[in-house]
Amino acid sequence: PHIVAALRDGRRSAGVGPVLPKAGVRSSLVQPGPLLSGGHDNAAGLQAALCREPVKVIEQITASRLRGRGGAGFPTGLKWRLCRQAVGEEHYVVCNADEGEPGTFKDRLLLSEFPDLVFDGMVIAGYALGSRHGVLYLRGEYAYLLDDLQAVLAKRRQLGRLGVAICGTIGFDFDIRIQLGAGAYICGEESALLESLEGKRGAPRDRPPFPTERGYLGQPTAIDNVETFACVARIMEHGAAWFTASGTAESTGTKLMSVAGDCKRPGVYEVPFGITVNELLDLVGAADAEFVQVGGPSGQPVAPKDFGRRIAYEDLSTGGSTMVFGPQRDVLEIVLQFADFFVDESCGWCTPCRVGTTLLRTGLRKVIAGQASLEDIATMEAVAGTVTRMSRCGLGQSAPNPILGTMRSFPHLYEAKLRADADISGFDLDKALG
Ligand code: SF4
Repeated sequence: PHIVAALRDGRRSAGVGPVLPKAGVRSSLVQPGPLLSGGHDNAAGLQAALCREPVKVIEQITASRLRGRGGAGFPTGLKWRLCRQAVGEEHYVVCNADEGEPGTFKDRLLLSEFPDLVFDGMVIAGYALGSRHGVLYLRGEYAYLLDDLQAVLAKRRQLGRLGVAICGTIGFDFDIRIQLGAGAYICGEESALLESLEGKRGAPRDRPPFPTERGYLGQPTAIDNVETFACVARIMEHGAAWFTASGTAESTGTKLMSVAGDCKRPGVYEVPFGITVNELLDLVGAADAEFVQVGGPSGQPVAPKDFGRRIAYEDLSTGGSTMVFGPQRDVLEIVLQFADFFVDESCGWCTPCRVGTTLLRTGLRKVIAGQASLEDIATMEAVAGTVTRMSRCGLGQSAPNPILGTMRSFPHLYEAKLRADADISGFDLDKALG
């Protein structure tokens, strides 16, 4: 019953139960691909970037059609161009390492096994944007990585890969500091992250203005995911054409997938965008999967009939979380844990999310207890619509996904739980949900 609670905390997940990664906290890489194959100690991507004009670096990233790996998929080259053009006293580069989506642990792997690749990407961004300051916002639960990451930064300063006149350049100074979060899921949302970085309560900002224009300390800021920065370093090392050779037209490159749950080989997989859920399940040894949650609780519940769907921005978009559930799991109990998660993590700023997530959880509890009528289901659907449309940020807007998604994909589970006196003759849940 505590699958989600355990998956929320990457550190606690090591070796706990059958659904969690067994490969350990620091080495859960099962399948490397082009991004993670081979070593990385020569700063080849950084050296290649510093040989170009900063605008040419942005052109290269744009040509690669790299999109943000945190899940939103915004084009990185466009973000950098907007940030570079924005007027400010300083430009900032921020790495979003607040990997709080339940079931996601691929950034933890990058930070523990490939930190220089990530830091190279940040330095390249600093060079391209004309920035002197980088900040890595590290998830509070990853505090145990802090000493090692600080040691990597210190070594980089010794080697001239951080600090003044990086790699012997004239006039390019850039340094990185690390700031710890305090355990709030909402701080993975970029504007809440900025508030937290500034020492304020982690609540989302109204936008516009966007961070590229007014971000950290009111200055132009590029915020990118850990994996995005790793991709940047490799793109500069191997070129845009190398990157676009993998993936699909709209989703170039590969994607790191954290796979956990009822499968034989949980861990981090580097797969080309466009891979089907079925193909991924084959890789991880999950032939009897009954339910896959792609993208964490805020993502999409995928039923077996949809296992042919593709992991890509144009189909199943994900930051990398894949939770696999076998036939022994109770789907509605899992969805209830997701509902608990959103009630816990709502920052409480706006009413649709603060109240709506609680109402949805109450409705689901009623369904599970066998006390719900058809009207209750219709009310849940209406509340879910309000929460989706009226919430202020992505947390609330996606909070109803597990309930709405399972109502559509597993309507028989809801119907089977309806109150005994509910008249379901002629009732079509799919139709009722539109
Ligand atoms: Fe906070 Fe939820 Fe409103 Fe976002 S949607 S601002 S998390 S209350």
